Amino acid sequence: MTKLDDLDLKLIHLLLDNARLSISELAEILGVSRPTVRSRLEKLEKEGVILGYTIKLNPELLRAHNVVALIVQTDKPEKMKEFNEIIEINRFTSRKYLIKIAVENMEELRKVIEGAGFDVIEIMPILESVERTSPPRVKISFKCDYCGKEIVGEPIVYKYHNRVYSLCCPTCLRELKRTRENIEKFKLKEEPKGEDES
Ligand SMILES: [Zn+2]
Repeated sequence: MTKLDDLDLKLIHLLLDNARLSISELAEILGVSRPTVRSRLEKLEKEGVILGYTIKLNPELLRAHNVVALIVQTDKPEKMKEFNEIIEINRFTSRKYLIKIAVENMEELRKVIEGAGFDVIEIMPILESVERTSPPRVKISFKCDYCGKEIVGEPIVYKYHNRVYSLCCPTCLRELKRTRENIEKFKLKEEPKGEDES
């Protein structure tokens, strides 16, 4: 991590409080020249200390909203974009949409529904949301159930008595079938049973 001196820290604190302070204003507050401020900022950006200049939202806006999912039908989907309360729009068919609306209360919800002019087909309050990161796509390797070798490409799938076997090649499939059949014949000799090969 970059070593930050007193001037760096003062700059960072000033910008954390107000990211819109100009270089002139920063120079004046800190009692240094504008080129000094500019070069310090460039250094902090280049070294990844300052990743961006952002805004502070009124905490009122960050308050937990009630999110409601609706299936709606509309001929004027562009109308939905006029409402900031509509936080998600997913199209099903040309006229059907699944949308999410974040509101504080029923009154607000009613206003959005009336204003956006869609027909509500279904309405469901979202009680809980779980943010999921997509799991890594791991390639599952199949082993041949007859010879035990790793299967390259598509396995040959063979279902026998509710068990599913993956085979690497037609030879292993043929051999497995023969072995199964021999076991079956052997069993049949011992205790006759109805055959249900599937
Ligand atoms: Zn095999």
